Amino acid sequence: MTAYDTNNIFAKILRGELPCSKVYEDEHVFAFLDIMPRVPGHTLVIPKAPARNILDIKPDDYAHVARGAHRIAAAAMQAFKADGITIQQFNEPAGGQVVFHLHMHVMPRHDGVAMLP
Ligand code: 5GP
Repeated sequence: MTAYDTNNIFAKILRGELPCSKVYEDEHVFAFLDIMPRVPGHTLVIPKAPARNILDIKPDDYAHVARGAHRIAAAAMQAFKADGITIQQFNEPAGGQVVFHLHMHVMPRHDGVAMLP
């Protein structure tokens, strides 16, 4: 597997070198709005630890991301008066990953409303 690239877009966002719409931050994770949202409120949760994807991350760091997604899901249900939540996480190009700093997509959903592809 390719090594973690410290110049990936999300690493730059974490370092404050690129702007983002921050949703949440704690000691372990950072969450911000996706630049091309597939639904309103589409949020990305990333670890502060450098990790390319699930194949690269330590289990404890992955657990922090899962906890962050859990928190964002609950907040998004209320903020967007959602009927459900979709969570996705892609790994390596074959798995659909485009940005190579691990991230979970948290997407509020509404009955009868499709996600953009
Ligand atoms: P994935 O790697 O999970 O397939 O997709 C990467 C996600 O990151 C996409 O949903 C894309 O819209 C989002 N994204 C790519 N570049 C940026 C950026 O510079 N800022 C933000 N906020 N999101 C981005």
